[in-house]
Amino acid sequence: MALDTLDFAVIAGLALAVAFYFGKDFIFGSDNATSAGFVAGGDENDRDLGATLKKNKKNAVVFFGSQTGTAEDYATKLAKELHSKFGLSVLIADMADYDYENFHDLDPDYLYFFLVATYGEGEPTDNAVEFFNWLDGDADQISNVKYTVFGLGNSTYEFYNAMGAKLNERFEALGAERISPYGQGDDGVGTMDEDFLSWKEECFDSLKNNLDLEEREVEYEPSFKLIEEDISATSEGVSNGEPNKAYVDMKKDLTKGPFDHTHPYLAPIKETRELFSSHDRACVHAEFDISESNLRYSTGDHLAIWPSNSNENVLRFLDCFGYVKRKDEVFSLKALDSTVSIPFPVPITYEAAVRYHMEISGPISRQALASIAPFAPNEESKKEALRLGSDKALFAQQIHANYLNLSDALLKISGGVKWESVPFVFLIELMPSLQPRYYSISSSSLSEKTSIHVTAVVEIEKHGDHTVSGVVTNLLKDVEVHQNGTKFVHNINYDLNGPQNKFKGFKLPVHVRRSTFKLPSNPATPVILVGPGTGVAPMRGFVRERAKLQKQDANATIGKTLLFYGCRTSDEDFLYKEEWPEYAKQLGDSLEMDVAFSRESANKVYVQDKILARGQIIDELLKTGAYIYVCGDASKMARDVQSTFVKIISEQRGLSEEKAAELVRSLKVQNRYQEDVW
Ligand code: FAD
Repeated sequence: MALDTLDFAVIAGLALAVAFYFGKDFIFGSDNATSAGFVAGGDENDRDLGATLKKNKKNAVVFFGSQTGTAEDYATKLAKELHSKFGLSVLIADMADYDYENFHDLDPDYLYFFLVATYGEGEPTDNAVEFFNWLDGDADQISNVKYTVFGLGNSTYEFYNAMGAKLNERFEALGAERISPYGQGDDGVGTMDEDFLSWKEECFDSLKNNLDLEEREVEYEPSFKLIEEDISATSEGVSNGEPNKAYVDMKKDLTKGPFDHTHPYLAPIKETRELFSSHDRACVHAEFDISESNLRYSTGDHLAIWPSNSNENVLRFLDCFGYVKRKDEVFSLKALDSTVSIPFPVPITYEAAVRYHMEISGPISRQALASIAPFAPNEESKKEALRLGSDKALFAQQIHANYLNLSDALLKISGGVKWESVPFVFLIELMPSLQPRYYSISSSSLSEKTSIHVTAVVEIEKHGDHTVSGVVTNLLKDVEVHQNGTKFVHNINYDLNGPQNKFKGFKLPVHVRRSTFKLPSNPATPVILVGPGTGVAPMRGFVRERAKLQKQDANATIGKTLLFYGCRTSDEDFLYKEEWPEYAKQLGDSLEMDVAFSRESANKVYVQDKILARGQIIDELLKTGAYIYVCGDASKMARDVQSTFVKIISEQRGLSEEKAAELVRSLKVQNRYQEDVW
């Protein structure tokens, strides 16, 4: 099978990587060990980028704007490669950690690599908001800046990769010099990894050919020294998976915020219930109690749930690498650079590191397989891992198509022989960090001030002889099963008591993410809500909000609420079926619900069909200032729904489709057409 240039480069370095690793005592042997050459994060008190670069003798920066952790993971790996291949001394920088006013003054020899994700409707990630404010506002000419950009996006969204493209264009306009072509990755068609590899290849070519950087053979250089601690898992200060240091130090008041992506609230789940009547599909309604905290939300926000891996996946991972017997042993990490960030609290047990901090169950990248090959248990497995790691088509067919995670893939390659030579520190660096998952809140902050509801469909599927499961949704299902004493045919098990029993009583760490998906401030404004499947979650919140307003003041004028919902059948997966008539009692004629059952007639009926059938009233409502809200599947539904609104406006007003599409776009600009899609 033919190998491309990148594949050769990866393979070429691997033999050396093993030799290098097994000579690791040379690197680890003394406390004066040399720096791995890159640092992560800013000095806590120092937001001055130039000073940080100077102080740490860095000559390149990999910035990441990351929401779900992918851009951060790519940034860490890119920084390592820039160092090991080109000898660059790289700072890995969270975009939120620095000020940019002095960007125009920085040394022109520095190189800047930006890995920037676009979130939601063409928005920057939370940690990149200030950077883009600077870019849109006070940014001076930056002709001293040499940069390149890779955007991470999803083509099913209208503003695909808006932030990567914007950064690239603005930097060009401000006189910065791009050192390699702008690149972008598309999560929507599942090619993010391969897109990133192609971009990186071009970028490395440019560094060699245009900037005359000399390429060295790739060497695996650990970023941390792993120190085995002779203390027990229950010793004071040892993390058993508590979400952050504050949890280890139990003297701190855990109910005090602010709660954010660095500091969750350990919220009791006071109620769960199964919403489907199906033997093998599940959808969990969960209510988080926030009454004992100062955590607050507003209707339409998102709840981030901090995950842990299932017992089954943790065991399989530990077993694959020979750590089952050592799972309760404790280790620490020492950064091999004074400013490197340790990825999770230490000292920690092996099990806790895997269960709470490593994304072990998701799909793996081709590059991951190639990079782990040198640690294979035998020559045959090594060859096979290298073959799969270097052959795009074979990898897609044998690994991706079979939904294999890292341990599944490695054990398949080795025929079940364990991979016990893989250093644990290598796994820590290889595996992406386990990230919170977001849920559209399905309660109303007006009607439920001290509880947050979520509605999560359980992601579980059989592929051949193994079950592929989503991390958080199966965790919620396990809570539901234990809280209510129910049964589920696919039940996956979790350690619900959590680290040192701190999650006992069905608690999970959460934080709220503010969203722009909001009802109009005037309740008299009509709204058109489109939420098939779990897309109904925030719509339930909106309807509850309006019902509560009406209850508080019977004379209040509440505008029309036209809700389009869709599911398979009326008796299997009709979410909140019993609740809608209750809301209708409160809201009277102002609430109208139209439901599309896709499996109850010969011709499948979807929400778009229902919307189209109500074209006349929809157009009338839009003329009176109605807002449109769409939530749920981004890949197809959101686009089809938008086309349907275009069709309605075109038909009802006798306009061309182009003109109608322009009108719909202008509704978006005015915030009268809002989407919450994923
Ligand atoms: P993950 O572990 O993240 O897995 C994702 C998918 O990958 C699953 O389908 C899983 O089966 C599959 N998978 C696992 N392992 C592999 C493998 N080795 N190879 C290939 N595939 C694999 N969801 C809701 O249900 N309700 C909501 O209200 C909701 N609101 C959202 C709002 C926002 C703003 C966003 C961004 C997302 C929202 N989601 C919602 C989606 C939600 O965040 C999660 O993505 C979803 O619940 C899956 O999470 P998980 O941890 O269970 O699955």
